[in-house]
Amino acid sequence: MKLTNVKDYMVYVELADGAPVNASLEILTRVSRLAPKSGEQVTAVIIGQNVSEGAQTAIAAGADKVICVEKEISQLEEYVQILTAIGKKYQPRVFFFPATQMGKDLVPVLSYKFDTASITDVTDIVEKAEGFDYVCSSYNGNILNEISYEAGFPQIVSVKSSSFKKELDSSRTGEIISEDIPVDRSLIKTELKETVKEIAEAVNLEEAQVVVAGGRGMGSKENFELVKELADVCKGVVGATRPAIESEWISRAHQVGQSGKTVAPKLYIACGISGATQHISGMSGSGYIVAINKDEDAPIFDIADVGIVGDAVKVIPLLIEAIKKEKAQ
Ligand SMILES: Cc1cc2nc3c(=O)[nH]c(=O)nc-3n(C[C@H](O)[C@H](O)[C@H](O)COP(=O)(O)OP(=O)(O)OC[C@H]3O[C@@H](n4cnc5c(N)ncnc54)[C@H](O)[C@@H]3O)c2cc1C
Repeated sequence: MKLTNVKDYMVYVELADGAPVNASLEILTRVSRLAPKSGEQVTAVIIGQNVSEGAQTAIAAGADKVICVEKEISQLEEYVQILTAIGKKYQPRVFFFPATQMGKDLVPVLSYKFDTASITDVTDIVEKAEGFDYVCSSYNGNILNEISYEAGFPQIVSVKSSSFKKELDSSRTGEIISEDIPVDRSLIKTELKETVKEIAEAVNLEEAQVVVAGGRGMGSKENFELVKELADVCKGVVGATRPAIESEWISRAHQVGQSGKTVAPKLYIACGISGATQHISGMSGSGYIVAINKDEDAPIFDIADVGIVGDAVKVIPLLIEAIKKEKAQ
């Protein structure tokens, strides 16, 4: 089923604990900047229960319209049926998805349903005279590709979290459309027995407001515990460089960078991290960067808002103590 009468951009707004995930809101903000130039509109699609608050957030992030499907569903096949029906009815030119676990599951199935190709893990959109190209990486981040899409419509595109900045403007207004799309349960071939949260999933680096990350400079697994302790007192999530992960000081789910996760917390504390481009590319969107490194010429200081030159193993306990003291007051 290829769509021919296409216009407008559609963004799937995934919910986590009832609220839109940042990755979807970031896409809405970016796409809302593209739409007026081409005279097109941005439509968000939300599926779940009690979605009205999420719909308002989607409008604040850039949606002109929000299609709400109030339904308690949990299986991928149910989402696929609903999103296929919506795509068929509204005929978007591009259907964007966050490159979350769910987005990664949905995108290939939907491109099969619409008989188009998909472009995954996009990190940038390049505006062209006609339409745009998508930037995404391959070969473990060694190569950045700029891809033109000529596979028909709708273009099915997933965007990596933190690729764009989310901006919420609560004064924006938009249209809310309720759709009641039936799900044909006889077509569902799987049965959901149990949902088990993997440890890797529980590391929600992309949504974290504070990330405390450690690198090779922490020196040992025992010293790396200080990074975890600092993250704990800051109510943050632990990040790590590739060498820290390869040394097995922490699991791969914590890797920040080109071949890891892209993060954009309000505060990023880099401990014993040199500032290699492959690491910086995953955290340079952070709001405020604090770096602790014993080498005053370390490149991480070039992007840090505050730099502390010193031994991280000595500095971190002092920081932990100071934060605890501040909290106790
Ligand atoms: C294709 C590819 C993809 C990659 N993807 C990633 C990725 O996703 N994420 C990633 O992080 N890396 C990635 N890398 C690796 C990257 O190139 C760097 O090697 C890595 O980021 C460096 O990690 P680091 O800062 O922990 O270690 P180093 O570069 O060795 O830096 C350690 C730093 O600690 C400082 N230090 C030492 N002792 C102390 C101390 N006691 N106190 C304070 N500071 C101290 C040193 O001065 C130094 O600056 C990738 C590489 C390639 C080729």
